[in-house]
Amino acid sequence: MPLRKQTDPIKIERILKLVFSQPRPPVARCRLLSSGFGHGYMFDTQDNLTGSKACLGCGCCMDACPVLARDPRRRSRLESRTSLALETLVGEDCDRCGNCALACPQVDTSIKHYLVQTHLAEGMAELLEKATSDEAMVLDLVLSSGLQYP
Ligand code: SF4
Ligand code: SF4
Repeated sequence: MPLRKQTDPIKIERILKLVFSQPRPPVARCRLLSSGFGHGYMFDTQDNLTGSKACLGCGCCMDACPVLARDPRRRSRLESRTSLALETLVGEDCDRCGNCALACPQVDTSIKHYLVQTHLAEGMAELLEKATSDEAMVLDLVLSSGLQYP
């Protein structure tokens, strides 16, 4: 639901590189770097939410996280479905896959495109560099990277 005029990732590239280089869930920081609600949001509230970058508590980031998918017991430690809950449950075990930022409705599409075109492409290149002719090793690398395949 971001604004039509969104954050230009090139203008904040240094910050985005830092965010995506750290083994910590990036979604909350990507949300705060985004444009916030556009004027046409459909929430029925008394307050005007335009521009709000708040977490909606939708849990999409948690559903998309491979760390939580691999370990359902970790997931069940908290009831809430927010970016704070994701940070608490995953912390520095983050795989740096970027899925949470891609799944969040409050993250600008411009930042998501940047993530796919830079960080994820670099991750795939790293993966291919490490790959050998041994298919089992390639599969292990893919699984441990948290990348999702159809
Ligand atoms: S593992 Fe991926 S989805 Fe989970 S917190 Fe880290 S970047 Fe987000
Ligand atoms: S996906 Fe939903 S729960 Fe996660 S940070 Fe975005 S708005 Fe909050």
